[in-house]
Amino acid sequence: MTERYDVLVVGAGPAGLAAAHTAAAHGARVGLLDAQPRVGGQVWRHDVRKPAPRAARAAFETLRQVTLLAQRSVVASEDGALRVETPQGSALLAYGALILATGARELLLPFPGWTLPGVTGAGGLQALTKQGWPVAGKRVVVAGSGPLLLAAAATLRAHGARLVGIHEQASADSVHAFARQLLHWPTRAAQALSLRARLLGVPYRLGSVVRHAHGEEAVRTVEIEDAHGTHVVDCDLLAVGYGLVPNVELAQLLGCALDHTATHPQVQVDELLRTSVPAIFAAGEACGIGGLAVARIEGAIAGHMAVGNAAEARALLPERERARRFGALLAMHFAPGQRVRALATPQTLICRCEDVPLGALDGYADAREAKLATRCGMGACQGRICGTALAELGRFPRSAGRPPLFPARLATLAGLALSPSDDVSRSPT
Ligand SMILES: Cc1cc2nc3c(=O)[nH]c(=O)nc-3n(C[C@H](O)[C@H](O)[C@H](O)COP(=O)(O)OP(=O)(O)OC[C@H]3O[C@@H](n4cnc5c(N)ncnc54)[C@H](O)[C@@H]3O)c2cc1C
Repeated sequence: MTERYDVLVVGAGPAGLAAAHTAAAHGARVGLLDAQPRVGGQVWRHDVRKPAPRAARAAFETLRQVTLLAQRSVVASEDGALRVETPQGSALLAYGALILATGARELLLPFPGWTLPGVTGAGGLQALTKQGWPVAGKRVVVAGSGPLLLAAAATLRAHGARLVGIHEQASADSVHAFARQLLHWPTRAAQALSLRARLLGVPYRLGSVVRHAHGEEAVRTVEIEDAHGTHVVDCDLLAVGYGLVPNVELAQLLGCALDHTATHPQVQVDELLRTSVPAIFAAGEACGIGGLAVARIEGAIAGHMAVGNAAEARALLPERERARRFGALLAMHFAPGQRVRALATPQTLICRCEDVPLGALDGYADAREAKLATRCGMGACQGRICGTALAELGRFPRSAGRPPLFPARLATLAGLALSPSDDVSRSPT
């Protein structure tokens, strides 16, 4: 059986929440689906220790007229409908208009020791911690690039972690220039000050890069390089993230054009957030990294557009433009430098799912050729980590994904192959 919605929104982060609420306010039958069990996306992820921020609670309360479809991962597209995995099986969701609010993931870059237990992404450790993974009393080094390091560190500290230091790869000149720009963004400046206040006493080192993680069973020490040379610090956990990368795989699967002007592609949209495919819109970080404010305003624009209300969408464009300018500022001042792209050695594993070292990829013309010969990118993450890292290292652009977008049950795959219009969750097992 196929469920039908006037407007279907994929992703229940700030962008998807705003989109669903806006479209529903126009009287549309709206479905809001997410792979996660709770709404909120990345920034408003449920924290076992503390209530959601006020803005998040307000957004959650606007969903009364929206059908929430939690724990549904879109794995494929079939005849103008989406095939989703549910806890029980799979289902087909059809739509009049579709809004892609699939957000972003962390950019992880390889360095010797990055596959040791205890080494995670910065946002990754933040997410684990919010979900209850115990960090109290653990010595944590946070490193990489961008304001997410501060947000992650603040969460870790609130959960009792002992922060050894925050190591930002961007240079002091670049970060100070960014800080001066904050004078034009008073709300952002206030947020930055509040974060720094929550991290009082934690060293924040600029132009500082984790070169190597050491340990037998798990990370025990990290080697850090800064303007004063290389030094070694002890730790129990190392959390390293180099910013964010848009999740474009679903858009690509649906035939939406991507914008390849940046290192990592983003969904190509016009100013009213229309993709290249009729009746499909995109909003938030999938269209380029911009942060919470961008996600919320773009969600509202896409929600208006999905129900044909271009006038109200247009009225929000100046706000969108201003929010996007801040995203551009972040990209300019925190882009990973050449130093971090040169950390991996030929022996460093690039594909952690399939154990493929960087040196094994020499001599291949493109990602597809390398994948066929070495299995790089064929594991559970489907190249989301290694393919993205290789693009950042300047090796090859990431190859286009294929269904299923995420690892799926055999029953789902069988349904896709045998009968595109059948709901395999109804099949006898
Ligand atoms: C790990 C991480 C931590 C972050 N922490 C912070 C923070 O503390 N503070 C901050 O200001 N910013 C943080 N950010 C930045 C954050 O991305 C934005 O501020 C904001 O959440 C973007 O909103 P969005 O709605 O565009 O996307 P997101 O919030 O990323 O939401 C996208 C949603 O789409 C869902 N989704 C994607 N693909 C599918 C699919 N195929 N099927 C079903 N569901 C799907 C995801 O499960 C997710 O819930 C973080 C980002 C990441 C990656």
